[in-house]
Amino acid sequence: MAPASHIVGYSRIGAKRELKFAQEAYWNKKTSAADLEKTGKELRLALWKQLKDQGLDLIPSNTFTFYDHVLDVTCMVGALPERYGWTNGEVDLDTFFAMARGNAQQPAMEMTKWFDTNYHYIVPELAPTTKFALSSTKAIREYLEAREIGIDTLPVLVGPVTYLLLSKASKDAPKAFDRLSLLPALLKVYQEVASELQKAGAQWIQFDEPILVTDVDAPVLDALKTAYAAIGAALAGGKTQILIETYFDSVNENAFQTLVNIPEVSAVGIDLQQKPRNLETLRKHGLPAGKTLFAGVVDGRNVWANDLNASLEVLQELEAKIGKGNVVVSTSCSLLHTPVDLDEETALDAELRSWLAFAKQKVSEVVVLSDALAGNKDVQKFGDNGKVLAGRRASERVVNENVRKAVSALTENDGRRATPVKERLAAQQAVLKLPLLPTTTIGSFPQTPEIRRVRREVKSGKISEADYTTAIKAEIEKVIRLQEELGLDVLVHGEPERNDMVEYFGEQLRGFAFTLNGWVQSYGSRCVKPPIIFGDVSRPSAMTSAWSAYAQSLTSAPVKGMLTGPVTVLNWSFVRDDQPRSETCLQLALAIRDEVLDLERAGITIIQIDEAALREKLPLHRSEWQTYLDWSVGSFRITASGVKDTTQIHTHMCYSQFNDIMPAIVAMDADVISIESSRSDERLLAVFHSGGVKYPAGIGPGVYDIHSPRVPDNAEISARARKMLEVLDANQLWVNPDCGLKTRKYDEVVPALASMVTAAKEVRAEL
Ligand code: GLN
Ligand code: ZN
Repeated sequence: MAPASHIVGYSRIGAKRELKFAQEAYWNKKTSAADLEKTGKELRLALWKQLKDQGLDLIPSNTFTFYDHVLDVTCMVGALPERYGWTNGEVDLDTFFAMARGNAQQPAMEMTKWFDTNYHYIVPELAPTTKFALSSTKAIREYLEAREIGIDTLPVLVGPVTYLLLSKASKDAPKAFDRLSLLPALLKVYQEVASELQKAGAQWIQFDEPILVTDVDAPVLDALKTAYAAIGAALAGGKTQILIETYFDSVNENAFQTLVNIPEVSAVGIDLQQKPRNLETLRKHGLPAGKTLFAGVVDGRNVWANDLNASLEVLQELEAKIGKGNVVVSTSCSLLHTPVDLDEETALDAELRSWLAFAKQKVSEVVVLSDALAGNKDVQKFGDNGKVLAGRRASERVVNENVRKAVSALTENDGRRATPVKERLAAQQAVLKLPLLPTTTIGSFPQTPEIRRVRREVKSGKISEADYTTAIKAEIEKVIRLQEELGLDVLVHGEPERNDMVEYFGEQLRGFAFTLNGWVQSYGSRCVKPPIIFGDVSRPSAMTSAWSAYAQSLTSAPVKGMLTGPVTVLNWSFVRDDQPRSETCLQLALAIRDEVLDLERAGITIIQIDEAALREKLPLHRSEWQTYLDWSVGSFRITASGVKDTTQIHTHMCYSQFNDIMPAIVAMDADVISIESSRSDERLLAVFHSGGVKYPAGIGPGVYDIHSPRVPDNAEISARARKMLEVLDANQLWVNPDCGLKTRKYDEVVPALASMVTAAKEVRAEL
């Protein structure tokens, strides 16, 4: 029987983050490599058995990794940067971790976000001189490992074209280096792996080519044809079939046509979740005869229970077009991006839980849908699902009429400050009387074990609210006094009451739910637990103003209020799928706008609204950028536009690629922006001063890197500031670190800030 159900991939961390604890124990030398390998094997075997028990036909292998699946490919093809000292043979665990995390001799390789997700991969470094040779047989070993327990899996590899296009040129590569020029050499290794997998018995090999959901051009499509012709040739005569997976967005029509017409490719995976363009393309063109569609109808990026009836309708329509037996039910992308198991969520109420599905539950949805498509519809399950979804739509917990009214009453004026930025800055300066090159920080101060303990203990009821408040106030006072001693110009309260910049606000807003165990891998052993926005968002009461007002009462220097912006809250949460993201963002904007006004009323004259995550959710297709930027910047402006001219609005962004979104950054209309720049070239600043347009407001490009324990000296910082003054005006430049200090220790922060203040004074005296 032809397979009918499939998933693109699965979370590797385990339902209780077993992988994280095993990795960290090994890194801290508490356990041996054999212990780590043992946990890895247990996790893999348990997952394969689980998927088999759930009735899934095509069970993936090689989706497990001890760090990152792109780094796995780097090992597979032997493209290790020389500086890690590896020469040949199977790449060993410690070399692997040296690349992932750095070691005493070498820093780690660069890490960056995997498309528009919060998963980070290790960026391959390639040059024309890169030599490829099969150097990790992990994919084959995992396939055989599953065979041993009688499970015939579908090995998964990042495809060669995506691999090359996600790489960066290594330092010694010439400027004109074309990464695709490495394809022929790279393909030799892919051919070897494919043929080994075929020999081992694999029926299918899945190649992930998510690069196809970006705007790819003709050379990329040619590379795609070349790649799969070569891999197909290595498999010729055998029975192993090639599946190419695309996910995260829609495939442009030309890319789609190329992809489905590659003769060696038997099947293609298409993301059908909220990607209407993909469905339209399939409706229009179907698939060439003999090809199979892996229809990604179950959402791998979000936590909601699937609308089974709607999905079945789509599947039946596609099957009618493409042919019986040619449609395999699948997920929209790997389940790496969803939490593992809803059954662990014992604290969620039954109603809310019934609306959700995590990875394990999504597998069941895939199976139920594939049975139904084959004519064995579980009428009971479909009926129950319909009722649950109808209940969700009608639930009073979801709809808040007041919020909806407030959103629809918004006018253009609500997103516009009355006075242009230049005049505002003058009005603010008249009140604030700051020196040139004012010094400040991004918000958080080190989160000490005591602070974490106090927060934990108030949550568990071990200490009273009153004791908690006393402890936090004492910490705020300590941080204020420290900043006064250091001589900073604009102070912060230090954020000791916050566990996380999104969770802290989510916990105080209506419409949010939290999980106990809803962890999703971010990178390596680091997992995040995004809140779930399930209903209309509202703010029952002020969230931060009491702490900020207390901090301000302690000092005559201005204390900056600190908020997380609407776009960042949205982008770092699981969001509802029953209304556009832009609508949810407006609701968040209104809630945070009220908080801004409360801060202003409490006497706070500088308010920073962090938008750390605005850039990372730029759509994968450029044609959709403007729409996204319009509503995201629009939401930010709503939060910021209710204040008086004399209230100074800051924003902070922890990234430095601004060149392509500069107009949107200007359109945010903040009075001061602080950005990361200490790790990247100062040339980025030129962006703020390019094409005859000059950034009109204040800028604080981080003068030192808080991501490292290194303490900079004042000469280094003043040299930086002088460089910045080559492109920025003296009355525009702020001096600050490049992000919050919460992950650092006081014995690093105190000398670093002291250097910073000294450097600012030094440069100020030269002006
Ligand atoms: N205000 C936050 C802090 O200082 C900003 C964090 C961030 O940009 N990621 O921690
Ligand atoms: Zn930051």
